[in-house]
Amino acid sequence: MVHEQIASRGLREPDLLRAFAKVPRHVFVEAGSPYADEALPLPAGQTISQPYIVALMTDAARPAVGWQGARVLEIGTGSGYQAAILAELGAEVTSVERHAELSESAGRRLGDAGYDRVRLVVGDGTHGWPQGAPYDAVIVTAAGPSVPKPLLDQLAPDGGKLVMPVGTRVHQELTVVERRGEEFIRSGRDPVVFVPLIGEHGFGE
Ligand code: SAH
Repeated sequence: MVHEQIASRGLREPDLLRAFAKVPRHVFVEAGSPYADEALPLPAGQTISQPYIVALMTDAARPAVGWQGARVLEIGTGSGYQAAILAELGAEVTSVERHAELSESAGRRLGDAGYDRVRLVVGDGTHGWPQGAPYDAVIVTAAGPSVPKPLLDQLAPDGGKLVMPVGTRVHQELTVVERRGEEFIRSGRDPVVFVPLIGEHGFGE
């Protein structure tokens, strides 16, 4: 998986590849073949991205100072796999999920895989989690019509980065925002398809 799906497509940071080699994806994904080059279904009608997209988002969110001790917020815990990758990289991870049952099973899986320091929060992640701000990186793993303002406000002013699919319910672009003081610099154009971000600053129910 690491060589054929991630490194061969141009993501070659050694710590990133090590983390993907180490985290047992089969603990987090039960349906289909966990290491296949495809998105797979999760309970509650949700989807986990193919490994390459998880790697692409993680790579885009890399804090300037590196991952060790970085404060990272994930919106959309789902299976817990992306959170495990961030924890393996050495980040202090908080992950918000709106479905309580997904959060609970992600908590069990993270514990089974040895990532028991990830903080899981149940609620509407379009509000972020102000108690843990500022964040060096914010990764939103569901697609919204625009970047929720609270998430921008919770980014570290000295180079905090946010990665999120932005677009319609059926088609989005992976958007990267880097904060420099009160300036928010946008980049990124990769087309992606994610499940919708449902909440006050996302899509409606
Ligand atoms: N990152 C996950 C996959 C996430 S799928 C993994 O590694 O497995 C997207 C998730 O976002 C779904 O679980 C969905 O329930 C959740 N979600 C959608 N809108 C949300 C919101 N406003 N707040 C928190 N979670 C949300």
